[in-house]
Amino acid sequence: MKTKKIYENIIDTIGNTPIVKLNKIAEGVKSDIFAKIEFYNPAGSIKDRIAKYMIEDAEKSGKIKPGDTIVENSSGNTALALAVVCSLKGYNLKIVIRDSTSPDKLKILRALNVDLVLVDSTLPPESPDSYNNLAPKIAEEIPNSYYLDQHNDKKNNEAHYMTTGPEIWEQMEGQIDYFVAGIGTGGTICGAAKFLKEKDPNIKVIGVDPVGSIFYEYFHTGKKTKPSSYLIEGLGDEFLIKCVDFSVIDDVYQVTDKTAFEMTRKIAEKEAILAGGSSGAAVWACLKLARKIDRPARIVTIFADSANRYLSSIFNDSWLKEKGLL
Ligand code: PMP
Repeated sequence: MKTKKIYENIIDTIGNTPIVKLNKIAEGVKSDIFAKIEFYNPAGSIKDRIAKYMIEDAEKSGKIKPGDTIVENSSGNTALALAVVCSLKGYNLKIVIRDSTSPDKLKILRALNVDLVLVDSTLPPESPDSYNNLAPKIAEEIPNSYYLDQHNDKKNNEAHYMTTGPEIWEQMEGQIDYFVAGIGTGGTICGAAKFLKEKDPNIKVIGVDPVGSIFYEYFHTGKKTKPSSYLIEGLGDEFLIKCVDFSVIDDVYQVTDKTAFEMTRKIAEKEAILAGGSSGAAVWACLKLARKIDRPARIVTIFADSANRYLSSIFNDSWLKEKGLL
């Protein structure tokens, strides 16, 4: 937990987030559900951990030096985390982001003066200008630039193996039966799961994937389905990516936008925790698991970011109605 009285700078406050027991939400199931509250990080999400870890690792290995430009594609949270880390460490930053990203996230990014390249979210994945293809192309064009590549560089997983996993193990005093987390880049779930399973091989790990993403189908059938659009931000993908290591995942549940968003609002109402859409997805999966096993177990999950990133979307009835979700 954050105990120091004075930190040298804001980057030093990353990590050591609290774990909170969910009470009213878990009424009626035999298991206990615990959430690690990652919006306590300074840029407001779990992605602060990888921004710090991956930039410092690239510095140590001589891949980057202050004055260089970091290029990355992000659903918003990595962009915000990099904005903080790059600003303090003296790097330029260029972010490729979908035009469908929540207006709240875009406003915060603009407040931090982040150089954004908005991509058309309806472009097919194979388009050279799509979200996944544009960032490496831009990095090639800018001199002294570095493509972070959080989706494929396993340093992402290592950040969670070194921080998120050990924190969970210590905070739970080794008493964990299940670890449940959304799969975005896969860094959180696979990095933390690797650590936790090394400590206790009996811990089971459940991933959560939105309808429209390809991970659920791939995990269960080994086949790649055609991706389609969905509204949960930060989870799922249209490609298989290297940071998703299925060898440490025991099961994958599939969640709809509607279910995830209803649960996100329920978390605010019942627990007074203002968490984001992927947290709703994660809690829905924890409850599904708890009902399935129907026995006392300790389930830990991740609240990756906060509701303040989705005030114009998930917490806005007109937006939900417009999307046919209310
Ligand atoms: N939730 C949110 C809101 C996110 O932004 C992300 C990051 N993509 C995740 C969950 C998943 O984290 P990871 O990329 O480590 O799988």
